[in-house]
Amino acid sequence: MYRQRHEEMTGRRFGRLTCIRFDGSNEDGMAKWVVRCDCGTEFTAYRANLVNGSTKSCGCLKQERLIQYNKNRKKPYESQH
Ligand SMILES: [Zn+2]
Repeated sequence: MYRQRHEEMTGRRFGRLTCIRFDGSNEDGMAKWVVRCDCGTEFTAYRANLVNGSTKSCGCLKQERLIQYNKNRKKPYESQH
């Protein structure tokens, strides 16, 4: 099994996330990075997900999008009961 040399990504930004430090690899050799979201949340993300864009925030981005989505989805006919 090859030990993949991890790229230096400290300080790189992916969406709202900034890479803080390498956090080892899982048993499949997938590199993990501790990242910090712009909202202040720190968590561990897979490098692959950061690079391919599937992880861009701690989840707050999704939440905001959801709120935005609901705002855009006004149903005027629901206002009267
Ligand atoms: Zn966040």
